[in-house]
Amino acid sequence: MSARVLVVDDLAPNRKLLEARLTAEYFDVVLASNGPDALTICAAGECDIVLLDVMMPGMDGFEVCRRLKKDPQTQHISVVMVTALDQPADRVRGLEAGADDFLTKPIDEIALIARVRSLTRLKVIFDELRGRVAATADLGMTNSLSLAMQDDKKAGHILLVEDREASANHIRTAVRDKHTIDVETNPQEALFKAADGPYDLFIVSLSLDGHDGLRLCSQLRALARTRHTPILVITEPDDRARLLRGLEIGVNDYLQRPIDRNELTARVRTQVRRKHYADTLRDSVQASIEMAVIDALTGLNNRRYFETHFNGYVDQAARKGRPLSMMILDIDFFKSVNDTHGHDAGDEVLKSFAARMRKVIRASDLVCRFGGEEFVVVMPDTPAEVARGIAERIRMAVEQDPFTVSPGKPAIPVTVSIGLAERGHDTVADEIYRRADRALYRSKATGRNRVTADAA
Ligand code: GH3
Ligand code: MG
Ligand code: MG
Repeated sequence: MSARVLVVDDLAPNRKLLEARLTAEYFDVVLASNGPDALTICAAGECDIVLLDVMMPGMDGFEVCRRLKKDPQTQHISVVMVTALDQPADRVRGLEAGADDFLTKPIDEIALIARVRSLTRLKVIFDELRGRVAATADLGMTNSLSLAMQDDKKAGHILLVEDREASANHIRTAVRDKHTIDVETNPQEALFKAADGPYDLFIVSLSLDGHDGLRLCSQLRALARTRHTPILVITEPDDRARLLRGLEIGVNDYLQRPIDRNELTARVRTQVRRKHYADTLRDSVQASIEMAVIDALTGLNNRRYFETHFNGYVDQAARKGRPLSMMILDIDFFKSVNDTHGHDAGDEVLKSFAARMRKVIRASDLVCRFGGEEFVVVMPDTPAEVARGIAERIRMAVEQDPFTVSPGKPAIPVTVSIGLAERGHDTVADEIYRRADRALYRSKATGRNRVTADAA
């Protein structure tokens, strides 16, 4: 994981120093000595993160930041304002200009690397999101992802673990306009709460009375539920060793006491944003996995799912010497439903048909839409007589009530033909399927709206 960092400073020694430190951590470094050059480099897409000196002749850092954040081409580039320690008002101005974070001169090495790493993680995940947005746009899909990317205003849910009341109040006041925050003083309780989640950010004090905040951090990193949730720690100025340890075990960033309100705001914003991007990405991966095996119209498993799992069901039944039955269902004269009532009405019938089927069938059975108006049900632990009963129930549930597809329009009468087969002693999966299909054919040929079983 690396990023290209642009260092903007009018003084050559400052540039050299930052370049050396960043290069030592394997970041690619680009240098600029004034605002206009920095803007040119950013516009050319040659950097991911900008370390921006505030005080520069000509165009100052605030102006550069404002321009970067105004331009859609460059607004995703993270900007770290480098301010003087004795100018706290600069941070307010920096935030107003859209800065993502701050560093104070003289620049502390750990702070520098922590900040750049944190923003690199944000960049990596943002790039992935952008890639995915481009891919789904190609498929003409509606873009909840690109909405998520623009949605920087989204509130986060924060758990603060802090036993100093004044500090807790200070933090609460700073973030509560934008985020919701729970405060917990005991790390054990905090862990329970965190596991209950969902939180977008943990802020953990490393100076809890009688407790080791770092232990909590490592526990949070170990729990599946909280593994991906960012952690900000609050450190004492003299506790460098523990801060380093924290960054090693996966703490994302830190705030040093006394906590500067603007740093707090900026760091919380960065971490919450990254969490939201990451959640969106994970959801979209999950959705595409589901899309691959789930039929979009009915929500049933699709043919691909059936084909990859049917063998497994049959093998397992054979190994355990248990019965297994399957049925194939095909809606009767469905073409005329479409022809008479329209394709949309046909779709509605398919949806309701799937819902009725599901009501009759046990959760342990596998129900798939095989294609068109054809469905299959695999029933483990089910002998033919029982399967016939289930099939009859589906047939009746369909025949009994005509399908209402839209209010005001007459309901559509529908029937279904079903073919059944039970696993025999010597059959392989394909053979069971062929027999069920043969039985279905007989149901169709002998008048439809009926169940036929094919004996092994
Ligand atoms: P049979 O009783 O012999 O099964 O007659 P049928 O009309 O049901 O069978 P056929 O296979 O001739 O026609 C199936 C129809 O199902 C044709 C096709 O347009 C329609 N169909 C397939 N998939 C969908 C779908 O997703 N939505 C809708 N509305 N119709 C579909
Ligand atoms: Mg049909
Ligand atoms: Mg058909």
